[in-house]
Amino acid sequence: MRILIKNGVVVNGDGRKKADVLIENDRIAAVGETLAANGAKVIDAAGCYVLPGFIDTHTHFDLDLGFTVTADDFVTGSKAAILGGTTCVLDFATPDREQTMQEGLDLWHQKAQGASCNYGFHMTIARWDESIRAEMRAMAEQGVTSYKMYMVYDGLKVDDGEIYAALQEAKQYGALIGVHCENWDVLRRRIAETKAAGILSPMGHALSRPAPVEAEAVARYMRIAELANAPAYVVHLSTAEGLGEARRARARGQEVYLESCPQYFTLTDDCYARPDGLKFIMSPPIRKAADKAALTQALHDDEIDTIGTDHCSFTMAQKSRGKDDFSMTPNGAAGVQHRGQLLYTLGVCEGRVTMEQMVRLLSANAASLFGMRDHGAVDANKAADVVIWDPDCETLLTDTNHAYNCDNTIYAGLTVKGRARDVILNGKQVVENGALVASGTGRYIPRKGYRALR
Ligand SMILES: [Zn+2]
Repeated sequence: MRILIKNGVVVNGDGRKKADVLIENDRIAAVGETLAANGAKVIDAAGCYVLPGFIDTHTHFDLDLGFTVTADDFVTGSKAAILGGTTCVLDFATPDREQTMQEGLDLWHQKAQGASCNYGFHMTIARWDESIRAEMRAMAEQGVTSYKMYMVYDGLKVDDGEIYAALQEAKQYGALIGVHCENWDVLRRRIAETKAAGILSPMGHALSRPAPVEAEAVARYMRIAELANAPAYVVHLSTAEGLGEARRARARGQEVYLESCPQYFTLTDDCYARPDGLKFIMSPPIRKAADKAALTQALHDDEIDTIGTDHCSFTMAQKSRGKDDFSMTPNGAAGVQHRGQLLYTLGVCEGRVTMEQMVRLLSANAASLFGMRDHGAVDANKAADVVIWDPDCETLLTDTNHAYNCDNTIYAGLTVKGRARDVILNGKQVVENGALVASGTGRYIPRKGYRALR
């Protein structure tokens, strides 16, 4: 199978050039001026950018919260992903606390069967003991080189010493640990206070976990990583105050990586006053205009390294569990399809982010940090995961014109620019003119140790 992408502008994290891209089997064979077709299928990319397939660093497909399960599983979620140009998701394998990591990994491999984009797994560490420590080697051998630890949630929360010990061990394997930074003890008190004050509407969600709840936890994680002499990765950073704490750690000489999400540079917390406010309930919550501005500036300044969606979708019927009490609402929202369009619209089109930065934020940096040596660039010998990005396209997002397996999106009403016109996955065209033409061809991507960006 050979494909020749002609007449496009190839953009990588470090520059752009007008070039053709020849794909043979599942590899990029050549990138150069006026390559000959020699019988290859030709795709005309005139007027379009040719980008490395996007990598979403943060999804939750088929996640069981106990009282309900996410609306999207790997089959539906990965279709939404690939339609948006995301050729690989890094999903969170989330075993129960008493399970082994191997059981969690096996289960997530099962769940991912039939995926339409490639995938890898971050492994959740919900307890720290000798058996979990011993499993890290086997995880690395199976291509799992990143972990997640939570400072929140009864079933997942670990203590500071556990984070410290896990950081020390993970660095032996070149593995990063992403930490969900919020102060659990305080936010639970604040939820109780907010409800006692009679605030049961979605606004109570934002009021109960204001910026210092995140910033305190980021500061604590930074200091724990400093003590462990290990790199730190903050997932879904949402506040200016949290960013400030990460900056302080960087100024001390620490190696700190930051992930944020489109919702935090797109929306503001007045969404919680809307009639459909329940759909915006996620943790961390949507923030104030000043936070949104600070994070947008941080994208411009290369202070943020990756953009993940934290895709965790629910129908409005599922969300309505919290209609009389915000704290009963399943946390999370759909987003995996729209990450590229949102960054392009609010970043590139507004002149805040260059195309090269967009490629770094959506693909190249994730490939480095998460050990995906064959991904993150359109270059000879790289994996043939390629997006042909049409910049001249506008779409009004609604609650229904998306591929999520749910009846809502937090971006309804927003007009986004650009789109993934065509997508090549593992050397085969799977999206053509914005439509899915092949499904179920996603593969597991085993990963190596991280490569430092800073
Ligand atoms: Zn998450």
